[in-house]
Amino acid sequence: TSGPRPLVAGNWKMHGLTASLAEIEAIGAGYAALGASVELVVCPPATLLAAAAAIAARFNLGIGGQDCDAQASGAHTGDLSAEMLADAGASYVIVGHSERRAEHGESDALVRAKASAALRAGLTPIVCVGETRAERDAGRAIEIVERQLAGSLPAPIAAERLVVAYEPIWAIGTGLTPTTNDVTSMHAAIRARLDALVGASAPTRILYGGSVKPSNARELLHAPHVDGALVGGASLTAKDFLAIAEAA
Ligand code: PEP
Repeated sequence: TSGPRPLVAGNWKMHGLTASLAEIEAIGAGYAALGASVELVVCPPATLLAAAAAIAARFNLGIGGQDCDAQASGAHTGDLSAEMLADAGASYVIVGHSERRAEHGESDALVRAKASAALRAGLTPIVCVGETRAERDAGRAIEIVERQLAGSLPAPIAAERLVVAYEPIWAIGTGLTPTTNDVTSMHAAIRARLDALVGASAPTRILYGGSVKPSNARELLHAPHVDGALVGGASLTAKDFLAIAEAA
C-alpha cells in the first residue's frame, strides 16, 4: 500500500469472555514489538470494551465497537450509543456489517445514521459494504457497492475520520476470497466514488475484509487501493492477528 498508514481491524463478533482479555494483552504486547507502521484495532463484544480499552491503552492498540445506535441516548432498551462506546474507551465503531444488515434488517439509511452518530461522538466509523455471491455472478458487484456507498456514508463526510470496508458477503467466514484483480477493481471504484464525494486527496482508508488470514494477507493487503483489512475469525488469536498486521 502507498499513502495512508494501513489499518488492520479485528472484528471479534459475538466471541469473547473475560478470559479473552489475555488475548487483548497478547495482541497489545505483540503490536508494541511490531512498531507503528500499521495501525491496529480490536473490536471486542461490548461487554469487554472498557476492560479491553484499559489494556489496549498501554500498547497504543485501538479499540472499537461493533455497532452503535443512531441516537445519543434515550428509551432504546438494549442499545448502545456511539457516545457510550467512546466513553468506554472506543475510538472506532463498525457500522453496517453484513451480519447486521442481514440479521437486523439494517438499511443503508440506518447505516448512514449510525455512521453520522459515530462522527458526532468523536469515533471513526468503519462503514461496511459488499455484494452477495449472486450479485457478483450477475456482474453487478460494483453497481451494488456503489449504491450502498451512496446510501450509507455519513453526511456530512469527515474524510479524515472515515474508513470504508469492502466485504464481499460470500467471502466472510467461508475461506473464499475474490481474486486480487477483483479486489483491486472494487477498491478503485470505491476510491473513485470517495474522490467524487470528498476530493481527490481524501485520506479515507479502504479496507478489504473476508477470510483474510496469515497465508493470504500479504497479497490482499498489498493489492492496489487496499489500505488495510477488516479481519473476523483470524483476529481472535494474537498469533494470527499479529501475523496479518505484520503482512500489512
Ligand atoms: C468480518 O466479518 O468482518 C470478516 C471479515 O470475517 P472473516 O475474516 O472471518 O471472514
